[in-house]
Amino acid sequence: MAKSINADIIIFSNNMDGRAIAPRLSARLKAGLVSGAVSLPDISNGFVVKKNVFSGKAFANVAINTPVKVISLNPNSYKAIEGEGTAEIVEVTPSAEEPKVKVTAVNKLQGEVPLAEAELVISGGRGLKGPENWHLLVDFAKVLGAATACSRAVADADWRPHHEHVGQTGLAIAPNLYFAVGISGAIQHLAGVNRSKVIVVINKDPEAPFFKAADYGIVGDAFEVMPKIIEATKKIKGM
Ligand SMILES: Cc1cc2nc3c(=O)[nH]c(=O)nc-3n(C[C@H](O)[C@H](O)[C@H](O)COP(=O)(O)OP(=O)(O)OC[C@H]3O[C@@H](n4cnc5c(N)ncnc54)[C@H](O)[C@@H]3O)c2cc1C
Repeated sequence: MAKSINADIIIFSNNMDGRAIAPRLSARLKAGLVSGAVSLPDISNGFVVKKNVFSGKAFANVAINTPVKVISLNPNSYKAIEGEGTAEIVEVTPSAEEPKVKVTAVNKLQGEVPLAEAELVISGGRGLKGPENWHLLVDFAKVLGAATACSRAVADADWRPHHEHVGQTGLAIAPNLYFAVGISGAIQHLAGVNRSKVIVVINKDPEAPFFKAADYGIVGDAFEVMPKIIEATKKIKGM
């Protein structure tokens, strides 16, 4: 398809499919590839794409010098803004050879918002004291239609499943809202959440490092603050 329309820029979402297809396609087309781009290319001097490196601690600006360019863009990496341009949307039904590997079963999690694509994420740390208190986060997540996440310390203690662990060694996410309750904000945790658009932190320690990365912060005991926030949110939502 790319060859038949002489595409010179091919953009994927940096999701599971994009991560699998973009490098293969760029090899076949002898095209330069930037995976995990976080903004639109800067074309003022060549073709330069910004991407996260070192677990989100730094950015690299990578110039693509080949005529054909392949980019995979991190989901949620920048705001969707309505532009003035028009685009023709063409549906294609490509004919593919018999694949060498086949997905034999897909087991979807029921009734949960998938964390990787969630717009809103409610996350908890060791400050919640134990798994028996997680209802505070789960209830709030249900009211908001949010996904739940946790720190590695929490997953390591088996309070929550490992697929909820975010950070350097867990999932890297970029939701519109990351709501962190009882999480200290260690650098390894921030590496996975610092691309969130708005970060709200609740911690009883005013010196907790997470406050430095927060857009909004509440210094307080999660066990007092969370029930009030849930109540207030229910009222706003008319629930
Ligand atoms: C190589 C390496 C990789 C790592 N990768 C990750 C990673 O991917 N993700 C990750 O999360 N961590 C990672 N870590 C661990 C990280 O360094 C921290 O140890 C971890 O994030 C701490 O988790 P926490 O904030 O839940 O717990 P703690 O550090 O114990 O912090 C708990 C916080 O809760 C607050 N608190 C306590 N009681 C209350 C209350 N009642 N109300 C409100 N607040 C309260 C405390 O003030 C404190 O700030 C990694 C570490 C290493 C060395």
